[in-house]
Amino acid sequence: MSYKEPAPIMHDKDPLESMMKRFHIAAEYLNLDEEVYSVLKSSNKKIIVSLPISMDDGSVKVFEGYRVIHSNILGPSKGGLRFDPGVNLNEVTALAAWMTWKCAVVDIPYGGAKGGVCCDPRSMSKSELERLTRAYTQAMHDVFGPDKDIPAPDVGTGPDQMAWLMDEYSRARGTTVNAVVTGKPIILGGSVGRIEATGRGVMVATLSALTKIKINPFNATVAVQGFGNVGSWAANLLKERGCKIVAISDISGGYYNEKGIDVGNAITYRNEHKGSLEKFDGGKKISNEELLSLDVDVLIPAALENAITEKNANQIKARLIVEGANGPTSHEADSILEKKGIVAVPDILANAGGVIVSYFEWVQNRLGFKWTKNRVYRRSDSIMKQAFNNVFSISKKYKISLRTAAYIAAIDKVARTYKYRDGSFTFQKNDKNS
Ligand code: GLU
Repeated sequence: MSYKEPAPIMHDKDPLESMMKRFHIAAEYLNLDEEVYSVLKSSNKKIIVSLPISMDDGSVKVFEGYRVIHSNILGPSKGGLRFDPGVNLNEVTALAAWMTWKCAVVDIPYGGAKGGVCCDPRSMSKSELERLTRAYTQAMHDVFGPDKDIPAPDVGTGPDQMAWLMDEYSRARGTTVNAVVTGKPIILGGSVGRIEATGRGVMVATLSALTKIKINPFNATVAVQGFGNVGSWAANLLKERGCKIVAISDISGGYYNEKGIDVGNAITYRNEHKGSLEKFDGGKKISNEELLSLDVDVLIPAALENAITEKNANQIKARLIVEGANGPTSHEADSILEKKGIVAVPDILANAGGVIVSYFEWVQNRLGFKWTKNRVYRRSDSIMKQAFNNVFSISKKYKISLRTAAYIAAIDKVARTYKYRDGSFTFQKNDKNS
């Protein structure tokens, strides 16, 4: 697919609308006053840039890039940089707000932001991607900063892009500033455990949820949609803990094996075939829709937004959905799933493992000190479990979905912080401490 084509119709629902509807439901539960409501629903800043890039064939192409800062109430804004042909301002705006709620729900001191460039990284060479990342960084030079706005990897970007971003920013500042970005290669100040962090968090959330709904994780059947960084790590780690991964998929389609997919093999295959599972023979070929409607214990959508919408929600047979991707379920699908009694661990909780370890990376960079893998795993697992238990108890207390409970936890925290900061709250001895 070329970047010139219009954004593909993979998003039949607007993610911003889904985000806003959920925000609204939680705000009503919290009885949020109008002032706070209007502050939290809007983004602080939206930047759109045009990036002319020399391509390898000598032509110049102009790419559109975005950075949306939703909030910096809890701290500097944090959020990934996405390279994908479907990137647009509405999507980036929704993803930025989701970062605010995500950081709040796991209680790390960041606001939310997101960046994106509308491009097709699969059809670009490494040097074209490097020029694009450097141009984007130059354009966002005044926006980024370790105390202002800190990017990280997202769909279509990884450690290489973060290394170029760190280098370009540091050149402009005249000194190495590694805390300006997270998800870097370890040698440049990246954290051990960051690569697998989101998938690991999905694994922790899945096991926590399975225990609550009384399904034994051992031999629990799992289907994973999306086999990028998040999906493949989640599948691998769940398999290590005894779950049976019966299906995986990527843009080449789905692969089903009732005896269990050899996830290690699938990862090797993907790595040796330019990131694609095309012609993988470790499972019977099925369609993406078939994968989503498999009769499994756990479904992990770990690709893009709107995998589950009102069109297919009725076909879902999984007992538990754990959202590895951001926004994989549309707002309309929420109530259909709820009526069917399907428990969904929402994105802002389920995939927070990545930003948690990003936070650890930033802390290590600022301390000039490296943590061990053991420390990273122990602390991130513990934050994930604590956040899960907190959201679970809110959902039990008010008899609401985990999604609404997670939004309530997040919005309550950001709203109270805002009120303290603007002086309309004063400290009460019995106030909640976090
Ligand atoms: N892109 C990831 C997310 O959506 C990670 C963000 C970060 O580490 O800042 O959570």
